[in-house]
Amino acid sequence: MNTHHPQVLIVEDDAHIRRFVRLTLEAEGCGVCEADGYQRGLIDAATRRPDLLVLDLGLPDGDGVDLIRELRQWSSMPVIVLSARTTEASKIAALDAGADDYLIKPFGAGELAARVRAQLRRHQQQTPDGASQIEFGEIRIDLVRHVVERAGEALHVTPIEYKLLTLLASQPDRVITHAQLLKAVWGPGHLDDSHYVRVHMANLRKKIEQLPSMPRHLVTETGVGYRFKR
Ligand code: CA
Repeated sequence: MNTHHPQVLIVEDDAHIRRFVRLTLEAEGCGVCEADGYQRGLIDAATRRPDLLVLDLGLPDGDGVDLIRELRQWSSMPVIVLSARTTEASKIAALDAGADDYLIKPFGAGELAARVRAQLRRHQQQTPDGASQIEFGEIRIDLVRHVVERAGEALHVTPIEYKLLTLLASQPDRVITHAQLLKAVWGPGHLDDSHYVRVHMANLRKKIEQLPSMPRHLVTETGVGYRFKR
């Protein structure tokens, strides 16, 4: 970890949740600032340039999904959305708009802290452009030669599996939605074909995971998509 204290902006209209998030993150050594609505949040994100944004979706003066769309025009700061269970569709919309992760209310302090740490780490260590390989567990992906190895032995993966794997593995701890995977791997004409992803993911897990039925690296986010874990 670097020595400076990461700055986190919380955009949330519920004062109790704001306080809970603030106390949790301050205990983690983060500096925290708070905004209670859309407009204030967008201004603070632009002027304070925090290292991470924790964003409620249901704001009194706007929709958090729109805030992400605006933010993504000029910033790649990690965004964790806070979502009520009743707003499943808006959670997915937020991820498609560029959010990195989500927490469903109510959530615990430990879970929040772990997600924040993961996003800060991911943002600091993003696979730089031009990186030539990704390694995790026994797997090594050679991005130059388009070769996947397991414990030094070449694995046969199809071009589709290779695309899926590299897309996920290059963004650890980030939730990638079905729509994002379909668009990136199959193209924008296939956004309704979630079964493509399921079938190819099952095959990929058989090759990558030690226990394909209990995947460690290619983790399902139920109803949403997938998350790669190192
Ligand atoms: Ca709210």
